[in-house]
Amino acid sequence: MTKAISYAAHDPKSPLSPFAFERRAVGENDVQIEILYCGVCHSDLHQARDEWGNSTFPMVPGHEIVGRVTQVGSAVTKFKAGDLAGVGCLVDSCGTCPDCAEGLEQYCNNSVFTYNSPDKHNNKSTYGGYSNLIVVDQHFTLKVSEKLDLAAVAPLLCAGITTYSPLKHWKVGKGHKVGIVGLGGLGHMGLKFAHAFGAYTVLFTTSPGKAEDAKRLGADEVVISKNPEEMQQHLQSFDFILNTVAAPHDLDQFMSLLKRDGSMCLVGVPDSPHPSPSVGNLIFKRRTLAGSLIGGIEETQEMLDFCAEHNITSDIELIPIQQINTAFERMLKSDVKYRFVIDIDSLKQAA
Ligand code: NAP
Ligand code: ZN
Repeated sequence: MTKAISYAAHDPKSPLSPFAFERRAVGENDVQIEILYCGVCHSDLHQARDEWGNSTFPMVPGHEIVGRVTQVGSAVTKFKAGDLAGVGCLVDSCGTCPDCAEGLEQYCNNSVFTYNSPDKHNNKSTYGGYSNLIVVDQHFTLKVSEKLDLAAVAPLLCAGITTYSPLKHWKVGKGHKVGIVGLGGLGHMGLKFAHAFGAYTVLFTTSPGKAEDAKRLGADEVVISKNPEEMQQHLQSFDFILNTVAAPHDLDQFMSLLKRDGSMCLVGVPDSPHPSPSVGNLIFKRRTLAGSLIGGIEETQEMLDFCAEHNITSDIELIPIQQINTAFERMLKSDVKYRFVIDIDSLKQAA
């Protein structure tokens, strides 16, 4: 066992505050990582405030983890001490079901999430990356390139894979018109990938002030979704829309922009349901409304390698952990440019 320090939510209402706990001893297949940076996902806020109704406390959030390997178990072949490594949203799964066999561990009925999930190694919950170290099975540990800015790599572990995976699944590429809804952590990565895959990419935003940034990040066009006339100009023209919005909203305004056989994939998980979409809107153009959850380990590695090859990282604001509660408040106001990343070195001040 190794002592760890962290910031934790102790209940849904109080600010996050310092919390000490122990990580398990390094098992034969385990990798111990000194965490250097951890991204701040809107899912951290949803769960710290128990907005999905499944939270256990104390909770150490954080599933966009990068750092250096400090120790490996005797059976570990993928890593050695000193290597860079990453951990995303998953730390375990059953390993035998059809989903695991296909490398889609995120859909395994017994997958274990990086935090707020029953920990198979003790009778507690898993604790995430707002902490100084983590011990993870090598299968769930990702290789990270030395070429990129490490702090800006962290958000790839969730925001990156959650947008890369559906864009790949729906085979987005040249000749496609693709919409990304919401310019936050996920949305800005969605823009970068859709653009890199060669699609004509349109950003839908409720924040007119983000238009210039959107173009820099890869948007060919920006539409203010609150403006019906602007929306009207895009009726029945999209092949695919990736919707990253973290709050309930009218889905029909986007469904009606899809061509016949077009799909809109939801990745945002609001705390309460969207108004029910119109059935007619689906039937008359054979449209699909779908969802997607992060990505499997193999695809996450593929995404990290793609990013290293194409020099893609997240646009971040680096914060000390002492500012996490302010960062949550700013995220609620859609004021994120475009992902907060915690400099874990700052935890030492809290120790
Ligand atoms: P974020 O950084 O807060 O971005 C969300 C964006 O949605 C905002 O920046 C804003 O963009 C837009 N938005 C917010 N409230 C809105 C409203 N009321 N109406 C319309 N647009 C609104 O959040 P994130 O970290 O990208 O996460 C987005 C969602 O995805 C969260 O619900 C999170 O839990 C979920 N998530 C899902 C998965 C998965 O596997 N499916 C993985 C990670 C996260 P504009 O200012 O441009 O309008
Ligand atoms: Zn996330």
